[in-house]
Amino acid sequence: MPRLLIIEDERPMRTALKDALEAEGHRVLVAADGETGLASALEEKPDLVLLDIMLPRLDGFAVCSELRRLGHTVPVLMLTAKGQVEDRVTGLDAGADDYLVKPFSTDELLARVRALLRRVSHQTRRQTVLALGDTRIDFSKQTATRGRRAVHLTAKEFAMLQLLADAAGEPVTRERFLDVVWGYTAFPTTRTVDNHVASLRAKLEPDPDAPRWIKTVHGVGYRLET
Ligand code: CA
Repeated sequence: MPRLLIIEDERPMRTALKDALEAEGHRVLVAADGETGLASALEEKPDLVLLDIMLPRLDGFAVCSELRRLGHTVPVLMLTAKGQVEDRVTGLDAGADDYLVKPFSTDELLARVRALLRRVSHQTRRQTVLALGDTRIDFSKQTATRGRRAVHLTAKEFAMLQLLADAAGEPVTRERFLDVVWGYTAFPTTRTVDNHVASLRAKLEPDPDAPRWIKTVHGVGYRLET
């Protein structure tokens, strides 16, 4: 059951939020000022933080920046006053994931919360083992075996397969491969991705010219079909 933290100083708003989220089946923690809220977020490690901006002791921007500075990736939904466009921009700059403009309906609140929690569960769902026919790829051990034989894959090939497996059947673009697998330190081209895919197919596919698992998505990239 997800645990949510509400940091909001106005009691009626805090109570309304808590009631609505509890009715939806969430466990809810509350804090009435920025300092207490930050401490609670660090200690309790909630799955989502609902963060008001105007708060005593430490405002919402400062709470959010501090969470990010300390390396916490918890999704933050900022609650901003109506029409405060600058608030939204500053909030997103401070590392907030989304914002909700007061006054908002309960339906809108619940929809945003659901979307943020879903995004997080997608990110954390990493495949640890992948089976392609009789080939077994273990991402945590960085090993691949076919029957009793070891299949040698390079670190880049493991990373590419991991990206494909995490995408769960959705296409992965060449640009995304370059960003995640190569990073910004090297200057590879999209051709590099194609060459590595060819190498992966040669090692894993029964017929590399008619791939069964690593499919080409024309004009986009590649997709893993399991
Ligand atoms: Ca407030």
